Amino acid sequence: MSGIYDVLIIGGGPAGLATAYLCHKHGLSYLVLESGKAVFQGIANTYPEGKHVYASKPKDAPEPFLVEELRPPDKPVTVESYIQYVQHFVQHENLHVQTEVAFEDIRDEREGLAVLTDKGVFKGRKVVLAFGSSIPRELSVYGDAKMVAKNVDDAGKYIGVKTLVIGGGNTAADVVIAVLKAKREVNDTQPVYWAHKSEKFDVNKETAQRLGEEILLGGNIRLLPGAMPRIGEVDEEGVDRLVIRINEFKQADGIDLYHALSFPMQNVIACIGSQGPMPIFDKIGIQMIACTAGVCKIAKEGERLVLLTSGFESTRKGVYVIGGAISPSYMKISEGSITEAKHPNLIYTAINDAYHVVESIRMMIGK
Ligand SMILES: Cc1cc2nc3c(=O)[nH]c(=O)nc-3n(C[C@H](O)[C@H](O)[C@H](O)COP(=O)(O)OP(=O)(O)OC[C@H]3O[C@@H](n4cnc5c(N)ncnc54)[C@H](O)[C@@H]3O)c2cc1C
Repeated sequence: MSGIYDVLIIGGGPAGLATAYLCHKHGLSYLVLESGKAVFQGIANTYPEGKHVYASKPKDAPEPFLVEELRPPDKPVTVESYIQYVQHFVQHENLHVQTEVAFEDIRDEREGLAVLTDKGVFKGRKVVLAFGSSIPRELSVYGDAKMVAKNVDDAGKYIGVKTLVIGGGNTAADVVIAVLKAKREVNDTQPVYWAHKSEKFDVNKETAQRLGEEILLGGNIRLLPGAMPRIGEVDEEGVDRLVIRINEFKQADGIDLYHALSFPMQNVIACIGSQGPMPIFDKIGIQMIACTAGVCKIAKEGERLVLLTSGFESTRKGVYVIGGAISPSYMKISEGSITEAKHPNLIYTAINDAYHVVESIRMMIGK
């Protein structure tokens, strides 16, 4: 197999970057594939602006931070400065990261593993899954909706076009506010359509106040309650479009009548929440075990937990899972028995998992 890395790392958060740094230090070839625009995208997307980052360590954890370079400072700093520090670190160490590459699947090959992504296939002897606990949901429509954005990094790019935001919660509302504001500031009269599948939007008071303020200042918004995204299609000019049904009239003769709007997908942002990594584990064929009464202390009865060796290798040979993706607990195979292992979702845990995985890969590969 040509162009094969010792280690392919999925996700450029604390777990993925710590793995990359340790591979770099020990002479293993590696590449980080990150779906976001930059490293630490997961943290950038989920922490509120200005939040302090704490170097939290569970009281009963025996180990110190095993990768000091990525440890948050003892005196808490804002998430923005921690991300900035990490970005400088990645640059300074010249860590190999490819951004805007989304992991999709793994295939076995004779000499290792092929990782399938939306940007093609990458090959590795070992694969470390470090994609965190919060995977943005995809729109489920007939046809393909991959071109639909899941968040906004530059509201300015929606200026001059009718924009559709899908989702009924605070995240969707924040996106609506950001796009309305960007448009209002340059006197763009093209509206923002805000669609939600339910009749009621569900935002907190503070967000509702900010939205109300934006509307009173001149924000041009059209609400679409009870609207359902239906079809992804390509029009006769080759433009990917999303068709969203905005109402439906059931008729006695069995033929339903409905109205729908069709938006170019590049003008659509879907903020429909996130999900745990379980559907990905199922897709890749990583074994999970359901907790039965009395077996698990952290997970609830019936919850499925991923099965890992003490070195974080999954039941798929050569595929490791670390960090937030296996929090708050997983099933650990050790000395012939399987027990639930506590795994707090912390930067500390993510970084230390990386250390242990790289140590065990080094032993196997002999570097
Ligand atoms: C609001 C909030 C505050 C927190 N505060 C603290 C704190 O103060 N101290 C602390 O120790 N912990 C804190 N945590 C927890 C901490 O952020 C997580 O434990 C840590 O980020 C987990 O690291 P990770 O690398 O496993 O996952 P993540 O940080 O989630 O990184 C995963 C990366 O993988 C990428 N990714 C996802 N899917 C794909 C895909 N398909 N293909 C390619 N890449 C993908 C994501 O974009 C992301 O960049 C906080 C969490 C939240 C939500």
